[in-house]
Amino acid sequence: MPELPEIESLRRILARSVVGRTIVSARVTDRRLRQPVTTRFASRVSSHSIAGVSRRAKYLIIELDDGKSEDPTAIIMHFGMSGSLTRRDGKFDGSGLDENHDHVELDLDDDTKLVYNDPRRFGLVLLTHLSEVDSTPELKDLGPEPLSEDFNADYLAKVARGRKTAIKNLIMDQGVVAGIGNIYASEVLFRAGVQPNRRASLVSREEIERIVAETKPLLLESIKRHGTTFRNYRDISGRPGRYGKLLMVYGREGEKCLKCGNKIRAITVGQRSTFYCAHCQK
Ligand SMILES: [Zn+2]
Repeated sequence: MPELPEIESLRRILARSVVGRTIVSARVTDRRLRQPVTTRFASRVSSHSIAGVSRRAKYLIIELDDGKSEDPTAIIMHFGMSGSLTRRDGKFDGSGLDENHDHVELDLDDDTKLVYNDPRRFGLVLLTHLSEVDSTPELKDLGPEPLSEDFNADYLAKVARGRKTAIKNLIMDQGVVAGIGNIYASEVLFRAGVQPNRRASLVSREEIERIVAETKPLLLESIKRHGTTFRNYRDISGRPGRYGKLLMVYGREGEKCLKCGNKIRAITVGQRSTFYCAHCQK
């Protein structure tokens, strides 16, 4: 499942490569995503240029401009479990991507196209006005971005107060902090030395500070490396992410802890596989 670093690295590549291009035409070959794609999609985006690409949590926002609207159209994309967005030209190597799951295509004026593919259809392709992006049902209740100043120890200590939920569930709660999923939650807590199933309200101030301090460099490093490796995820150029090799606990059950050599354990917290080192994490 793509997480924040995957979407942010995709955003950065798109910001460099497609901003300023015009959408010549568009096609929706299958509307059946988590919510149906609007039947007016093609007509509402055609002849618009791409004015910018932004991100909120794991949502990618493609800002359009038709040269006349005061409040232009925006495309909001979410990639669900298995979605991808690839920019393709005649030489694109589509191996591993099943064309039967190319649901939405945007033809650009440089003879490339952006293709939204999602085999499992948990993703979203929505249209809204730019001024309304933050108030859509999907985005309106999201907590602060983990890379912003608003995500700090004072804030996290405040939301942890009185919460009986496990600390891992708390930092995966999109209303608490937006964009941290299962992988980075496990990794952050390992680096902070905090066991994932500790009750949030009992995590000390010092531990909260370590969690916040470890989150930002981990996400930034992962963004730099184009996200994590997943079978179904490719970055815009079709390359898989490379972060996988640097994961210290996620997916490493039974393997040696890279800090102390004890075995990494796997438990279930909030119905999600959770990896930790019982020696390094208290
Ligand atoms: Zn260890």
